[in-house]
Amino acid sequence: MSALLESYAAGHWFRADDDGEPLLDAATGEEVARISSRGLDVAAMVGHAREIGGPALRALTFHQRAALLKALAKHLLEHKDELYALSASTGATTQDTWIDVDGGIGTLFSYASKGVRELPNDTVVLDGGLERLGKAGTFVGQHVHTSRPGVAVQINAFNFPVWGMLEKLAPALLAGLPTIVKPGSQTAYLTELAVRRIVESGILPEGAVQLVAGSARGLLDELTVHDCVDFTGSAHTAGILRRHPNVLDGGVVLGVEADSLNCSILGPDVRPGDPEFDLFVKGVVTEMTVKAGQKCTAIRRVLVPGELADQVVEALAARLAKVTVGDPRHPDVRMGALASLAQRDEVRKAVEALRASAEIVAGDPAGGPLLDGDPERGAFMTPLLLRARPGATEPHDVEPFGPVSTVLAYDGIEAAIALAARGKGSLVASVATHDPGVARSVVLGLAPWHGRVLVLDRDDAKESTGHGSPLPVLVHGGPGRAGGGEELGGVRGVLRHMQRTAVQASPDLLTAITGRWTPGAARAASPVHPFRKSLAELRVGDTIASPSRTVSRADIDHFSEFTGDTFYAHTDPEAAARNPLFGGIVAHGYLVVSLAAGLFVDPAPGPVLANFGVDALRFLTPVKAGDAIAVTLTVKQITPRVNADYGEVRWDAVVTNQEGEPVATYDVLTLVAKTWPGDDR
Ligand code: NAP
Repeated sequence: MSALLESYAAGHWFRADDDGEPLLDAATGEEVARISSRGLDVAAMVGHAREIGGPALRALTFHQRAALLKALAKHLLEHKDELYALSASTGATTQDTWIDVDGGIGTLFSYASKGVRELPNDTVVLDGGLERLGKAGTFVGQHVHTSRPGVAVQINAFNFPVWGMLEKLAPALLAGLPTIVKPGSQTAYLTELAVRRIVESGILPEGAVQLVAGSARGLLDELTVHDCVDFTGSAHTAGILRRHPNVLDGGVVLGVEADSLNCSILGPDVRPGDPEFDLFVKGVVTEMTVKAGQKCTAIRRVLVPGELADQVVEALAARLAKVTVGDPRHPDVRMGALASLAQRDEVRKAVEALRASAEIVAGDPAGGPLLDGDPERGAFMTPLLLRARPGATEPHDVEPFGPVSTVLAYDGIEAAIALAARGKGSLVASVATHDPGVARSVVLGLAPWHGRVLVLDRDDAKESTGHGSPLPVLVHGGPGRAGGGEELGGVRGVLRHMQRTAVQASPDLLTAITGRWTPGAARAASPVHPFRKSLAELRVGDTIASPSRTVSRADIDHFSEFTGDTFYAHTDPEAAARNPLFGGIVAHGYLVVSLAAGLFVDPAPGPVLANFGVDALRFLTPVKAGDAIAVTLTVKQITPRVNADYGEVRWDAVVTNQEGEPVATYDVLTLVAKTWPGDDR
């Protein structure tokens, strides 16, 4: 008997008190492991996550959590070989495993980098701008995101045992949420190995990750407000979870990624011989055969102009005939096995249902030739292409979770969009077109029904990541039947796990709460120029108010000539006089910003290392010759970098004229040393 998988619960590896159920190799039928969670104390796991994992994660800033993700990604890279070897038992080819394992590790890296670049080195994130709520500016509002003191439970389908876990883990950990991982039982041995390596590494604080190997019985009963369940799987199971009392009435947030009848549309502008025709055919075959079609994003419905249906079917059949099926360990096998014989039975049943309104036009439903593998014990299946009869309904209702697609003919763009919509909401659609008008009409028609739309043509094909690849930086999820959930999408995926709160306060207290200087809050005019202060000495609110400088016509003329910016408003008095906004010669906006820099810099070498940009630059009042401008520069935000000896300082800059009117506002972004040994003060 093979080993019983263990759960990682409350700081220990737990072994069930029975022999468990066997998990079989998808290709050979041999036992790989056994699984059971009998006797597992899920209440203790939830308590452990809340009391140990959560506080430890929330004590870290986003940048520190991002550093953990990066370390984790590097650690898993070192264990890739054993993950790849075990992955073959799931029926996955090397290419399939690359998507699962490398795709998962890549998601960790992506979130690690987003966490540093797009989130503050803090535990609170501001959402949107400041809202002035009173006339005098003493009462303002700011939305903030904070970590929830809860636990994230992820329940995954069997098809991506590594990616499925990591794509949910990365944003949750970054958000400060400890996670309980519940993989699909069928392939849980691969998830268990990955979690084991994560736990052994000691990179994450204890309690940040736990694992349920086996049934998640009773887990939802332990959840309450602030906890979330991120589910990927069938619409049927999603329905059971949606009806759980703690979801209905207990405040548990449920995110669902369920089944999806994704489509790919051949644009009406495309003709055989066009690059888009071949790209379309290639894309459909790839999506039918990668992971043996067991991908939530696979193309189930192939929508083609009626007059081209024969040619598309012919081209697809020719390409599918070249797909070699068999044991994924054989180097020449292009498509491996389904995850289990039971899964293959499910797909065969779905094909029978589809045949009510469609014919099989390519592939052998009884099973075709195998390059290598036992047809009785391995869950092999040749890819099947069906062609729907007019008015077919089953292709819009039945999801064959395997290497099966149905070709449907359409007549006109509106009809194609209407057919796509009959999937009742899908994860992704693609359209192959090189016509801008078709692209716009189809995408705007598809968008309300989909979480992602790929437009494929000769220009983007080379770099395109394809129809079926969810990317960490783009949202993954879809409306309606697809579950209505949303995952990934870069920082969106992190913020979804956090609580958004509108805070109303005075500018001073808002500054204290958010750690970011709020306009209207006190400024600290220090006797020392803030450019002479290292990060260790600099404080939010430190300010320098410059002397004023009169802008002369000679300054404007010089800037025009020097830069070549001879726009008439700066050079031609008559034409400038007719300008409805200026009524005469005005200084260039960039001249104002440049003069402001000249007013606020402290020129000698010091802790300020570089200026790396400005944000939110606005020119508010024209500056004319004779106006006197001055600038007030205030430290708005200090973000030390975790792995560098410098950090970022964001300065609030307000340039005013002699009347005190703001003429320009912006944020100056600088890099400042954490310490400055050569400080000569
Ligand atoms: P499933 O049977 O719904 O199982 C999904 C997960 O839910 C498994 O971990 C399963 O555990 C667990 N589960 C089952 N009953 C449960 C219950 N009563 N309470 C708590 N957890 C429960 O789906 P599947 O067969 O694994 O996956 C295939 C389906 O997933 C397809 O329909 C496919 O479209 C969909 N899918 C969707 C996406 C997406 O992102 N939208 C991605 C992949 C797959 P056990 O394995 O232990 O039963």
